[in-house]
Amino acid sequence: MDEQRNVILGAGLTGLSMSYHSEEETHIYEKAHEIGGLCRSEEIDGFIFDYAPHILYTIDPYASKLIHKLLEGNIHIKKRQAFIYHLKYDKYTQFPFQAHLYGLPTNVIMDCLKGVVDVLTHKDPATPQNYQEWMYSHFGKGIAEHLMVPYAERIWRISPTKMNYEWIDRRVPEPNFDVILEGALKDETKLTGFNNDFWYPIYGGIESLPVALAKDIKNINLKKKVTRIWPDKKQVEFNNAEVVSYERLISTLPLPAVIDLIREDVPSDVKQAAEDLEHNSIVCVNLGIDRENITPYHWLYFYENDFIFHRISFPMNTSEKTAPPGKSSVCCEIAYSKYQPLEVKGRENIIQRTIDDLIKAKLLRKDDNVPVRDVLSMKYAYVIYDLNHRKNVSKIHSYLESNDIYPCGRFGEWEYFNMDHSIMSGKRMADRLGNK
Ligand SMILES: Cc1cc2nc3c(=O)[nH]c(=O)nc-3n(C[C@H](O)[C@H](O)[C@H](O)COP(=O)(O)OP(=O)(O)OC[C@H]3O[C@@H](n4cnc5c(N)ncnc54)[C@H](O)[C@@H]3O)c2cc1C
Repeated sequence: MDEQRNVILGAGLTGLSMSYHSEEETHIYEKAHEIGGLCRSEEIDGFIFDYAPHILYTIDPYASKLIHKLLEGNIHIKKRQAFIYHLKYDKYTQFPFQAHLYGLPTNVIMDCLKGVVDVLTHKDPATPQNYQEWMYSHFGKGIAEHLMVPYAERIWRISPTKMNYEWIDRRVPEPNFDVILEGALKDETKLTGFNNDFWYPIYGGIESLPVALAKDIKNINLKKKVTRIWPDKKQVEFNNAEVVSYERLISTLPLPAVIDLIREDVPSDVKQAAEDLEHNSIVCVNLGIDRENITPYHWLYFYENDFIFHRISFPMNTSEKTAPPGKSSVCCEIAYSKYQPLEVKGRENIIQRTIDDLIKAKLLRKDDNVPVRDVLSMKYAYVIYDLNHRKNVSKIHSYLESNDIYPCGRFGEWEYFNMDHSIMSGKRMADRLGNK
């Protein structure tokens, strides 16, 4: 049996970053046949699709420098073209909704402006108790009801009354009355929000980033799925019955999966905490279309129940090298959860419903030829900040760390991490364990 000091589970950005930044030898074990985790891309007949759209942006100077160093010569900058589709008004408005009310029916604009004024003139507002209350108290009734609450339900697939709002940070652009008013009166306002500009690899899709990160990393073991962890013996077993002894186990696997792998040895309160963690899942329907420039947009939001997807994006507009000349590409994200399972079952039915809905949104024509059709599935997509999120995560972390199992990354820390956060999570773990 092999004895290894630093065993890393998962070769996504976090596991790779931990190894990249570690001064000690590490051994990575990954269940897939390739590195990258959620940050992978697939190539079909000249089309490149990411595992859900991945754009790069960060305010962290270290992450920014590292990303540019890794992608040197293979990165370009894009100005966001993101819009919201309103089927009931047959209109697209610019994202974020509250800053671009122009063109919506007068009663909708009135509701939104009145709601903002109510918020701004409310002297002693109560502290919101959940995400739904936060939307009302932050943006007012009009904006909450016309867009924010319906969209939240579409993406999270859990009632926003069951979520906290600790994760919001800069993800939901702050309301600013001048900007809202200007956006209601004028057709064009400045781009607002935190990812007005974003970066993306020119060639190879987002997978170029983990590939560059892994270039000099040794000891990456692919097709090694963890099947069991014994914290008492400090051993981990893989699908080929191989058993490895570790001193420190760094896990980027989803917390509930790690607890399952330890099985009966886990105390019941920790098991319960893991069972209570919430997440959603996403299916991506990727389509290659035999028509040029079906749209100039990067991505579009859909908040109405008339559509199966909540967001669609156009890889050919983030990099023209991701589609053959004269063709277009679309990635349609469909979210579901244990509370709201997929409304359409079966691969072909999901693809057909997606195509029908793209025609409904006037993005595809009935006679469009769609030669490339694929479906990618992500069981763990977004961590959901339910009302007990922090308490449950702390309990699981204390138990794991007391057993020399160090969770990190999006699903190890169980946080809403983007790629830059995941890279920094791996670095933090390398710095921390390096000092031990
Ligand atoms: C829909 C969606 C859109 C996103 N868009 C963006 C974006 O636009 N910009 C951005 O910055 N970020 C985005 N992200 C976030 C980004 O994908 C993540 O922050 C990052 O990729 C997480 O990396 P990770 O290594 O922590 O986790 P993962 O990528 O999940 O890596 C974990 C690895 O563990 C492996 N694994 C799991 N179980 C086992 C097992 N039993 N044995 C061995 N290996 C196992 C997995 O195969 C995987 O490779 C998005 C995420 C999603 C879901």
